[in-house]
Amino acid sequence: MARKKILFIELQQETNSFSPLQTTIADFGNLILLYSEEIEPVARRTRYQLRGFYDAYDRYGKSDIEVVPVFSAWATSGGPLTLETWTHFLDVIENALRQHPDAAGLYLSLHGAMAVEGGITDAEGELLAWLRQRIGPEIPIGVSLDLHANLTRRMADNATFVLAYHTNPHRDHVRLGFRAAKLLFDTVHGRVKPVMAWRKLPLLKGGGYNIDFLAPMRGIFRRMAQMERQPGVLAVATLMVHIWLDDPELGWSVVVTTDNDRALAERLADELADINWAVRHHRHPEPDTPETALARLRRHRWRTRTGTAVFCDASDAVAAGAPGENTHLLKTLSEQAPDLITYIPIRDESAVNELYELAPGTTWKGTLGGRLEKRFNSPLPFEGIVVSHHQISQSGPILKETGRVVVLRRAGTHVIVTERANPVFRPEFFTQLGLNLWRADAVVVKNIFPFRYFFLPYNRLTLNVMTPGVTLIDVFGIGYERIPRPIFPLDDVRDWR
Ligand SMILES: [Zn+2]
Repeated sequence: MARKKILFIELQQETNSFSPLQTTIADFGNLILLYSEEIEPVARRTRYQLRGFYDAYDRYGKSDIEVVPVFSAWATSGGPLTLETWTHFLDVIENALRQHPDAAGLYLSLHGAMAVEGGITDAEGELLAWLRQRIGPEIPIGVSLDLHANLTRRMADNATFVLAYHTNPHRDHVRLGFRAAKLLFDTVHGRVKPVMAWRKLPLLKGGGYNIDFLAPMRGIFRRMAQMERQPGVLAVATLMVHIWLDDPELGWSVVVTTDNDRALAERLADELADINWAVRHHRHPEPDTPETALARLRRHRWRTRTGTAVFCDASDAVAAGAPGENTHLLKTLSEQAPDLITYIPIRDESAVNELYELAPGTTWKGTLGGRLEKRFNSPLPFEGIVVSHHQISQSGPILKETGRVVVLRRAGTHVIVTERANPVFRPEFFTQLGLNLWRADAVVVKNIFPFRYFFLPYNRLTLNVMTPGVTLIDVFGIGYERIPRPIFPLDDVRDWR
């Protein structure tokens, strides 16, 4: 059999329309930015989509597939891409397409909630339409998305199939890449003919409770797994949307791909939309304010003797595009809980510049945070002792993303001042800086989902804190300008159809 040439492109960034910042090529460079032959050796060592892609290639593609890696780019969530960054990626793709006019298929590993400066709030839709125009209607484009993607008409119209994570917090990156690659190999060889049906739901529901293994989503993910075992079904997905993307098509969606069975795809898409819609009233627990969270921590302090409490700083979630410099929680903990051992990250590049000049043991007085985002936040006066300095050369990916770090301490309050924002997904963020989690009463994280999984060995009490901030969980307070109406829960919508 003739070898079929497959190009892959990985472009992952989740955009927060309400961030005052923009995402540049340097931001990709600080996380992952690899081109052509640089990609494979790195991808094979990671736990992400392209690892799965190469695993599938090893197993199914070696004899009849030729892989052309174009680029792999990931940036931390944040504001829209600059036009320059966007154009750069399009230029690289354009070149690759020109060099490989014989491409038989494309794999795109995308987030699905990316925006670009100048009002492009459906960047993936724009990219897919642009690609389709260049390569014509026949060449398959296989797409894998984050579960928080905002599936748009342009994305669905121009992709051959769309797959997504089946976990939240996301743990199946490798499996997703593997499934997408296998399906694309089968498609380019004509062994299957993907047919896709999708439904948009007028639904916005964010927050830390849309977890695949907890109610009410558990039953839905179980049903999705059943559907995928059904003969003729290639893939199904529920996309819960990143709620801080101000796009005219914002909303949950479901998508079902079958092997050339239109009726089956349509029927299952309706069922999947129905079962997601049916649990829309499920109430999330009310989040705490910093003060009520602290009071709860004091009531339950006995629990942290064998671990720590974790404050989820939900309104400053770096993982959802916030700047990571919100001072509300830092203010409460440093002023009202000096007796507790707390570890609190805050982004402040200019404070890091000052602190880096000071030897450990020196007292510093200045302000922290509140510099980038001024609507919800202002700089917090702080005095503390420099404990330690950390820089990129000392460690792996955490400090590459974060830049230089200085730990400052006042009584029990340990402030981790960082040059760039870090979502603090994993306990290693603290332990690599020499901060012992067994000794902490509480730590602060800047993400809404993944910590629930990665901090399990240490976490004895989760405190979800809501303050003013860029990633406010309460959709009534977000201040959308472009989203479709009516939409639940902002409006009373009876039927998703
Ligand atoms: Zn996600």
